[in-house]
Amino acid sequence: MKLELMEDFYIEELKDIFDAEKQLLKALPRMAEAASSPELREAFEMHLKETEEQITRLKQVFKRLEEPAKGKKCKAMAGLIKEAEEFLSEDAVPEIIDVGLITAAQKVEHYEIASYGCLATFAKLLGFAEDKELLGRTLQEEKATDGKLTMLAESLNLDAAEGETLEDEAEEEAPEGEQEEAMR
Ligand code: FE
Ligand code: FE
Ligand code: FE
Repeated sequence: MKLELMEDFYIEELKDIFDAEKQLLKALPRMAEAASSPELREAFEMHLKETEEQITRLKQVFKRLEEPAKGKKCKAMAGLIKEAEEFLSEDAVPEIIDVGLITAAQKVEHYEIASYGCLATFAKLLGFAEDKELLGRTLQEEKATDGKLTMLAESLNLDAAEGETLEDEAEEEAPEGEQEEAMR
């Protein structure tokens, strides 16, 4: 499709985030399940519900534009989710799994914040006040989720993971030759 108008670009970007949200709808339950902190699990579960509403809002926007609510594969979200899945397949203690989940989730939220931030601005430029309101509401939810994840990261109890790290360091002290190699 040749993009000539701002509205064409706006629709393309809506399709991208629509697909991204649908990918997240599938990934979030798995992330909630993998979380060991009950607060983190709850945060993922709550954001899953918000994600459902966000998808409904996007459908409303498509409807108003008289465009089919159809996504276009968001490769960035696919990549972020793939990284999260790869991390979850690693052997990690529960505390570190939570740290990794928070990191993966914040990367996702930041992608969404960038997308909805642009979309809300474009809606305003195009004079689509209703869209601006809907997209702005989602933008606030993504920002709030990001903030909550930062708070959870700050309140994580890393005692168990710290203990493990010290022991591992003693065990895994590399032979001298290798250390020199590593320092070069
Ligand atoms: Fe979202
Ligand atoms: Fe994308
Ligand atoms: Fe989100």
